[in-house]
Amino acid sequence: MSIPSAAVSGPRRLLKRVRDVMAGPGTAEERLGQIVTIIAADMVAEVCSVYVMRAGEVLELFATCGLSKEAVHMTRLRVGEGIVGFVAAHARPLNLKDAQGHPNFAYRPETGEEIYHSMIGVPILRGGRIIGVLAVQNRTERLYSEDEQEALENVAMVLAEMVAGGELVSREELLPTDGIALLPLRLGGARLAPGIGKGLAVLHEPRIVIDRMVAEDPEEELARLREAMRGLQNHLDKMLEAVSGIDGLDEADDPGDILEAYRMIAQDTGWLNRITEAVHTGLTAEAAVQKVHDDTRARMAQVSDPYLRERLHDLEDLANRLLQHLSGQYQSPAFGDLPDDIILVARNIGPAELLDYDHTRLRGLALEEGSHTSHVAIVARALDIPVLGGVKGVLDKVEGGDPLIVDADNAQLFVRPTEDVRAVIDGALKARAERKALYAQMRDMPARTTDGADISLNVNAGLLIDVPHVVESGADGIGLYRTEIPFMVRSAMPDITDQTRLYDRIFEQAEGRPVVFRTLDVGGDKLLPYWEDMTEENPAMGWRSIRITLDRPAVLVHQLRALIRASHDRDLYVMFPMIAEVAEFDQAKEVLDQQLKREAARGFVPRKVEVGAMLEVPALIWQAPALLERVDFLSVGTNDLLQFMFAADRGNPRIEGRYDTLSPSVFAFMRQLVTLCDQRNVRLTICGEMAGRPLEAMALIGLGIKRLSMAPASVGPVKEMVRSMCKAEVEQYVLSIMGSSTRSLRSRLKAFAIDHGVKL
Ligand code: PEP
Ligand code: MG
Repeated sequence: MSIPSAAVSGPRRLLKRVRDVMAGPGTAEERLGQIVTIIAADMVAEVCSVYVMRAGEVLELFATCGLSKEAVHMTRLRVGEGIVGFVAAHARPLNLKDAQGHPNFAYRPETGEEIYHSMIGVPILRGGRIIGVLAVQNRTERLYSEDEQEALENVAMVLAEMVAGGELVSREELLPTDGIALLPLRLGGARLAPGIGKGLAVLHEPRIVIDRMVAEDPEEELARLREAMRGLQNHLDKMLEAVSGIDGLDEADDPGDILEAYRMIAQDTGWLNRITEAVHTGLTAEAAVQKVHDDTRARMAQVSDPYLRERLHDLEDLANRLLQHLSGQYQSPAFGDLPDDIILVARNIGPAELLDYDHTRLRGLALEEGSHTSHVAIVARALDIPVLGGVKGVLDKVEGGDPLIVDADNAQLFVRPTEDVRAVIDGALKARAERKALYAQMRDMPARTTDGADISLNVNAGLLIDVPHVVESGADGIGLYRTEIPFMVRSAMPDITDQTRLYDRIFEQAEGRPVVFRTLDVGGDKLLPYWEDMTEENPAMGWRSIRITLDRPAVLVHQLRALIRASHDRDLYVMFPMIAEVAEFDQAKEVLDQQLKREAARGFVPRKVEVGAMLEVPALIWQAPALLERVDFLSVGTNDLLQFMFAADRGNPRIEGRYDTLSPSVFAFMRQLVTLCDQRNVRLTICGEMAGRPLEAMALIGLGIKRLSMAPASVGPVKEMVRSMCKAEVEQYVLSIMGSSTRSLRSRLKAFAIDHGVKL
């Protein structure tokens, strides 16, 4: 990384003069008037104008040299209207030889601009938001040079200080909240991880205040930049070292990959060059970084491709870190003096950055961006931290220290909530805490019905962080380990060694409890970032799950080898997902048998091997006799099974609620399956979401199910329900109503539970 030295240049002179006027006497408008005159003279332009953003997204002409003076405060353009509005809408410069020929040109007679042909407009940006536009016009048709554009952008950057300073229009007016920033607000978002959390806002990337924009000596600025770059590099190195030792974090989440990518960007000369060029034009190192930072943020708003957005986010994050090093304000908020109850507010955040914070103090997360499958959502769910994503404008509307409530369950964020709202939320939190304490007390009690039937409760897991919950919740084991989750949060396919290490740690942390490993179940909504685009017309029924791993046996072979190696001298339970016919199970089992033989020759021999299938495709039940002869256990994935049974995409809100899980046909299916498995002594587990809901679990137990696997947080509520029900009574009732032709048995089951003291 090398930073070239600066030469004295015209743009520096221009900046210096602008700065001098800004600091000089006169009202803000008078000074702005002088500035546009200086710019016009410097650029040999006939017109230079400044438009400032007013409330309601309108750009108002505030100063001009060249256009009619009457037009000042009179000419107003909406964002998107005219060339000026176009620049604001797209947050990027527009350089036109013939502005009048541009489809967006809007003629305003009061300005007298019909005689000008060429025009260049650059956005005035502040914190990634447009707060004005600086425009230059000439009579002749000319294209402004790149240097001229650069010089204008730098001036715009300095002007941003003046506009944002509140002398031209009030600061409140520049806020997107139109002056209601300090009133309570309720912002909508999307639930990325469930729960409710209350605390004080901590901004993940606090805004750095730059008080010096223009520099006298570029050499000195470049030296400071070099020093800060060194600091940043060292810091990234340290972070890389630190995360490689994080305990409890899934190795396959490897934040190291993410940091490595950061380091590569930091060494990218294009990025550095842009900052260096800005220093050459007379900006301070901070202002130069800020300029590149603002450009990036403005561009981010235009990009919809999620991969590119992630990369731009990385760049932005780096710029922010560099600014912190330059300003000496460097300290990740994660290591600062933080409140006991933190609601973290960020544009987006990576899993490693999240883990920088003491997670025992994190009460919630509110993100401007973020998606359900984003890595941070997966990690937060494992840590039981509620997350709201897609909260538009949260960074502009929330100040550090603001009281916040993340109500992810109802997809809303309360900013500076009123007493009434707080009281309601406090009630909900108290009730939750009491129930949690109750569940903790029940930890070592058996999940036994009042008439003595033992039900095996297990957890579904996917990250190493989940595994301690098995022990904490008092579950019997891991009924479903979703091996694809570690694959999904990595940036490259884990190799056999990585996988072996990961599975080995899962065994260790499970402390001897059985772990059922499901082989890779990707496709559908579970995409691997490093695999080719698998966009399909109908992904739920497409090339997914076992279909992929049978078509690409190398993936399955590697995974099975890793599992066999990790289970040397341990019990290995392997389960194949989405089996639609016995032949598929046979094919997968054959691969396993070959690998068991191969690994045995290398000295890796599991103590016991049991092989099962997931029943998620209805067709399989009609091959039950052949299937049950082959498998040691069966697990029903009701999430997939029910969508296929009812031909109803579970992700489609239009049909949500049309079919109920507690319907007579589901009961008939389950009852038949229980009978078949009991006859052949095959263990049967339900591991879809329905197993974790107390009313559904009650019905399943009534149908004869003895094993359930669910999210760790559901173990307490389901155990409480089990310990309050009489299996024989429920069974009798369920059998008596399952022949009904109503669409749902839910209300009857609920009434039964209430009448019989079953705790739901
Ligand atoms: C299911 O389909 O019910 C299941 C447990 O698998 P997943 O939710 O991982 O698709
Ligand atoms: Mg499934």
